[in-house]
This record gives sequence, structure tokens and C-alpha cells, in this order.
Amino acid sequence: RLRDGRALYQDVWTIFNSANLPPECINLGQGYMNFPPPKWARAAAVDALDVTEGNHYAPARGRPRLRKAVKEFYGTQFGKELDPEKEIMISSGANQGLHAAWAAFLCPGDEVIMFEPFFDLYLPAIAFNGGKPVYVPLHPSEEPVPGRNVGKQSWSIDFDELRRAITPRTKMIVLNSPHNPLGKVFSRAELEAIAQLVREHDLMVISDEVYESLVFDGLEHVRFATLPGMWERTITVGSAGKLFAATGWRVGWLVGPQALIDPALAASTRIVFCANTPMQEAAAAALEQARERRFFENQLEEYAQRRAVLMDAFEKLGMEYAWPEGSYFILLNISRVRWPEDYKFPDSLNGRADDFKAAWFIANHIGVSCIPVSEFYCDEHMHIGANYARFSFCKDVDTLRTAAERLQKLR
Ligand code: GLN
Repeated sequence: RLRDGRALYQDVWTIFNSANLPPECINLGQGYMNFPPPKWARAAAVDALDVTEGNHYAPARGRPRLRKAVKEFYGTQFGKELDPEKEIMISSGANQGLHAAWAAFLCPGDEVIMFEPFFDLYLPAIAFNGGKPVYVPLHPSEEPVPGRNVGKQSWSIDFDELRRAITPRTKMIVLNSPHNPLGKVFSRAELEAIAQLVREHDLMVISDEVYESLVFDGLEHVRFATLPGMWERTITVGSAGKLFAATGWRVGWLVGPQALIDPALAASTRIVFCANTPMQEAAAAALEQARERRFFENQLEEYAQRRAVLMDAFEKLGMEYAWPEGSYFILLNISRVRWPEDYKFPDSLNGRADDFKAAWFIANHIGVSCIPVSEFYCDEHMHIGANYARFSFCKDVDTLRTAAERLQKLR
């Protein structure tokens, strides 16, 4: 049910799980941090556990304190203040919020447009709910940068292709900015051109903005829902895990007009009923205190340093990468990586493209794990992804430096 053509009992996260890799391997694969969320936020979960109510169901829509904190976190960034009773729904991680949105709105055969590469978990969630994914690949281009070995690679939409992908069955477009795995931050002009098509064809949009706090180089994070006419058509997805280095809390949220949030809530209630209560309190405390502690400004500076370590490593190697404008991912062209002919790969790699082999070899031979990118493509386009691997830089600088040194062996 998940993919045509590829027998997939194991997804990329299972195959490249640390448990399957040598213990000394540095994990730059699955994107989670090797540092904790802020202590002042964690304390709120402990306090919640000390009260009976904190150990029981939260309202399906989410704990009132957290919904209020989400409303205040966004302020007027959506062009208006959010109504926490109607326009915010808390989910068990962004992932479950997405699933609820698709369960609520997809009818069998509804077409959902996604740009490739896409975050792989969109695909099963759309398929489980009867949707039909329609893929529009992004295209890389390279601009030379004076004094650098590798140019600035950016990936962009071919709007003719996007236009051709829209049919009378198209129900929605999925957007993801900052983008996983490209690190692309979609420009206002690109998003406005998408909004124009959404208006023309009367579509809905799911805008996954979980990396919203990680936008580099002074670029602008444009909230799709703020473009003309888009609030009424857009569900925006956010994540405490990504904002606060707390991926295991499983707390995320959906933001949008009541007409879109109520159906998603109706679905969510039937899927998980509610998100984890104590971790909602931790997320609320984190959001409440983040501004006065300058948490996001400091975090962004730290991430910029982490990003530089990997960019320098790839620059030194002379291997092309997508310029990471946002998120904590760098997409590296690994088509040059070679392994001995008799190299032994596990059976779990059978039927996979060469990027799986390259990533396995890099993990086992070099000691750094990464995620092969063909997983983020449909069968028809997986040969494009087979040239790339994704490296995460959500690790402390020392760990990244060690990884960077090891990667020089790829020369
Ligand atoms: N979003 C994270 C990543 O892309 C985690 C994915 C997952 O756990 N399946 O690495």
C-alpha cells in the first residue's frame, strides 16, 4: 500500500537506525539532536506529573495553556491573532497532525501534489487515506561562487510542470519551507506564484513549516497562509520538537481557519484522541519563556556555526551540495562515492538505488551516517535522488568537527 514497485518492509529510518550501524558511527542521518531541550521547559513536564490532572487525557484540541502559548508565539504573524478555541489544534508531533489533516480531507482518488524530493512520511500518510500523490520534481542549478570549490546550488520549481500536474482531481498542494531534505527556503515570489495557481484551481494547501525557526543568511520565512486569499485554504503545521530540540516529546500543532481545523480535529480525536499531557505543558513553558530568554536568536546562531562546519567539509572535498538556506539538513551529491566491488551490503538494501549503498558504505567505512535521498522520490524519479545523501547538522560543533574530519576520507 505504501509504494509501487519497491517492496518496503523497512523504511530508510529503520535501515539507517543507529542500532544497525557500528556503535562508533556518528549519526548525521535521522534528524535529532545530541543536546537536550532547555531545562526550564523540561521542568514544566515534571511539575505536570506531580499533579493528578497532568497524568490524564488532555482536551482533544490540546491543553489550553499550550494553545494560548502557540497563539502568543505567533502573535500577528498570520496577519491576525489566532483564536486558540478554533484555529489551533495540538497533535502528537507534526507527523500525526499531518495524518489527521489528510484523513479529514482526502477522498479516494483525490490527487495531492508534492514537490520532489519530499519528506518521505507524507507519502504513506496520503496513501493510507486514499489520496493519490502527484510528483513535481524540483530542479537543481548551480551558480559559481568566487573563491569556492563548489558553487551555490539551488533547487527550483518549473512552473509549467506544476501547471501540467494540476487536474480536475487535484485537491491540494503540500508545501514544506524550510525544506527537508533540501534546506531550501521558498521565496515570496515562488510562493505567490503557487498561491496564484491555488486560487485559479480552487485548491487546499498543507504548509509544513516545522523548521520555521531555522532560516539563515537573513532570509525571510514567508508563511504561505499570509498570502492573499490563502488563510482560508491553508493548514500550517508547527512542531515543538523542531523548535526546542525535543523530537521525542511528540508535540506539534495545526493552525488554520476553523473550517479546516475542526475536521482535522475530528480525525485526530479518532486517531490518538489527544497528545501527551505533560509534554504539552513542557511545550507551553518553552514557548512562554523563549522570547525573553532570546532562545531562538541564540539557537539560530548555534545552528549557523554547525552548518558552517559541514559546508566547509564539503567545500574542502569539492563535492556539490544544496546551499542550506534553512532547516538543519544539507543535501550532498554523492555520485562520486565508490566502494570496493566485493563490498558486502545487507539484504535490506536489495532493490534500493545506489545512494543506499553509498550511504551504507559511508556509515560503515567512514563512520558517519546520512540518509539516502532516493527514499524521498517516487519510483519513476528515484534515479534523481540516487545521486544524493542528506546530512543533518543538529549536533554539537565538536561532534560535527569529528564527522567533518572523517568525511575527508571520501577524497
Ligand atoms: N524529520 C526527521 C528527519 O527528517 C525525523 C524523521 C523520522 O523520524 N522519521 O530526520
